[in-house]
Amino acid sequence: MGQTTRYRFRQYGITPDPMTVAEFSAVCVSDLRASDHDSPECGASSGELTDAAAVTRWIAEHLRDTGHPNYRQTTSVGITAEPGEWQ
Ligand SMILES: [Zn+2]
Repeated sequence: MGQTTRYRFRQYGITPDPMTVAEFSAVCVSDLRASDHDSPECGASSGELTDAAAVTRWIAEHLRDTGHPNYRQTTSVGITAEPGEWQ
């Protein structure tokens, strides 16, 4: 005998939380194994910034100073979630 499973779907409202401030950061992940650096990645970080353009500036300055080409950029945004109607 098979068993029938039914799923009910519900809508959710996912919106940015206006009470929080978005944070942006970048980390240099350039591979330094070919150099005499003691870790595989550079690891330099912009720190948490509240301005996306400031992260871009940090990357441009780090590139200018070091020539490192690879970065990982992160955006952190507060979210408010509300359950909505069942479908
Ligand atoms: Zn670097």
